[in-house]
Amino acid sequence: MHDLIIIGGGPAGVSAGIYAARKKMKSAIITDMLSGQSVVSVDIQNWVGTPSISGFDLAQSLETHLRGQGGIDIMDGERAIKIEKKEDGSFLVTLQSGKTIETKNILLTTGSRHRKLGTPNEERFEGHGLVYCAICDAPLFKGKDVAVVGGGNSGLESVVDLMQYAKKIYLLHHGTALKGDPTTQEKVLNHENVEVIFNAETKEILGEDKLVNGLVYEDLKTGEKKTLSVQGVFVEIGVQPNSELVKDFVNLSEYGHIIVDPRTQKTSAPGIWAAGDVTDCPYRQNNISAGDAIKAVLNIYEDVYVRGKSV
Ligand SMILES: Cc1cc2nc3c(=O)[nH]c(=O)nc-3n(C[C@H](O)[C@H](O)[C@H](O)COP(=O)(O)OP(=O)(O)OC[C@H]3O[C@@H](n4cnc5c(N)ncnc54)[C@H](O)[C@@H]3O)c2cc1C
Repeated sequence: MHDLIIIGGGPAGVSAGIYAARKKMKSAIITDMLSGQSVVSVDIQNWVGTPSISGFDLAQSLETHLRGQGGIDIMDGERAIKIEKKEDGSFLVTLQSGKTIETKNILLTTGSRHRKLGTPNEERFEGHGLVYCAICDAPLFKGKDVAVVGGGNSGLESVVDLMQYAKKIYLLHHGTALKGDPTTQEKVLNHENVEVIFNAETKEILGEDKLVNGLVYEDLKTGEKKTLSVQGVFVEIGVQPNSELVKDFVNLSEYGHIIVDPRTQKTSAPGIWAAGDVTDCPYRQNNISAGDAIKAVLNIYEDVYVRGKSV
């Protein structure tokens, strides 16, 4: 019986693992990969204490730190596929390999996946001009022409982040009116470097040697295909949290994020905790995911060892 099973090995899961090991909790981390989503990013400039690091190097440093820490079972290359609650309140986690593992507490740090455009060759350009995080990557497009796909709040905020860097920003929206917050809409619609294109469906990303140099969209009113010359494409058509494992136990937001108490990271189900991008925290960032996961572990530690809560 473990005190804690962490599921997911991105910045949140690894940070949780390091803290759980340092607290000498009987813990394990289950993850298909020790890395996280930003592994594909060419340059992360806001991982505090490291002005610039590639996603790959960040992933490696997280892994080195966790393995160097010791004191936690690292089950990588494993996927958790089922969680069952037992009569005594503990949990049974089943892995894809067929193994099962028992625990008093589960910390979900399974992150989220970005909704993709579904265009041909999309994966070829990911991290090479096709990006999903304006807060992270906007500075890389200084003086360049870019397109943002998605006219909801995330798309609008991406445009605002890009305003201080990009030369020209095209905002492509499927519908006939933007959807986000009215003040941000006004800011976007009135900015001289921004051109909003309505009724636009992205059909193809163009590029050479993996570097983006254009985007083809269909004008849904006329059926005409048009090409924009851009060096960057920001995809902001929503995210899909990896919360399926606990959807029958915990309260989820309308978008499927796990609702947590932000002071403790507790979910609505006793013994199940969550941190990082899988939660309803509005900011999807490495530092925040790591911090929230650490907060969760410290609270779990208090519950198990200090308050002596048993299952
Ligand atoms: C291209 C890109 C660039 C980014 N750049 C930045 C940046 O510059 N700065 C910044 O702060 N943020 C950036 N972000 C956002 C940042 O990556 C996320 O906020 C952060 O990774 C969230 O961490 P997490 O640990 O919650 O989840 P994730 O990083 O998504 O990690 C979750 C992990 O859990 C694994 N997993 C999921 N389900 C299971 C399961 N059932 N069993 C086992 N394992 C499972 C996943 O495979 C993954 O490895 C970027 C995101 C992307 C996509």
